[in-house]
Amino acid sequence: MNKKGILLFGGTFDPIHNGHLVIARSAAEKIGVQRVVLVPSANPPHKNHSSLTPARHRLVMTELAVRGQELFEVSDCELKRPGPSFTIDTVRYFRERYGPNISLYWLIGGDTIKELILWYKVERLVDECTIVTAGRPGCDIEVDFTVFRGKLSDEQIARLKQFILDTPLVDISATDIRRRIRRGLTINDLAPPAVRDYIIENKLYKT
Ligand code: ATP
Repeated sequence: MNKKGILLFGGTFDPIHNGHLVIARSAAEKIGVQRVVLVPSANPPHKNHSSLTPARHRLVMTELAVRGQELFEVSDCELKRPGPSFTIDTVRYFRERYGPNISLYWLIGGDTIKELILWYKVERLVDECTIVTAGRPGCDIEVDFTVFRGKLSDEQIARLKQFILDTPLVDISATDIRRRIRRGLTINDLAPPAVRDYIIENKLYKT
């Protein structure tokens, strides 16, 4: 049990959905940490969203999604920081906040691990936190790790592999949710009711 660890989970959360929540809880249980910090990103350098929903909406939806759940906390640290949201800067922010004795984990989905090699200062990032990968339907978790060889040591690659977790596979994506709303379809069971209600009240994702 690693009660002194924190699982950080960054995303555009546009919107946050049950897939995010299920994998975060499951990963936290498997690692044995008792705190998950959700970090909505301002301007993800690796994402190509032409029309990201304003940060204030994504932040409120993230807060609504986990309201009353002791496991979760939401941080607006990336939204307050100017410039691109580099994960290493966020990890360093939490390291400063919690000190050297806490284990920091950073959760990503199975589709993201193959992009990790492109992340800013990845060779430092994987030492400053533990990258934890959750499976995602349709994403081959058997990543070709040889592409990591130029940048990461064998030891670092072994750690990445070690933290590919056997979490539930949840076939939900924010893209699908946005598409369903545009088509007037329900998103019940895909996102928490409070998030669904907020989307309806604020007429998000209609166009
Ligand atoms: P979009 O469809 O807009 O790309 P998304 O559903 O992938 O969004 P993000 O906020 O971009 O959601 O995801 C943040 C992180 O959560 C990413 O690392 C992504 O891989 C992971 N993730 C999102 N949904 C799932 C899911 N259903 N299963 C596993 N990982 C997921």
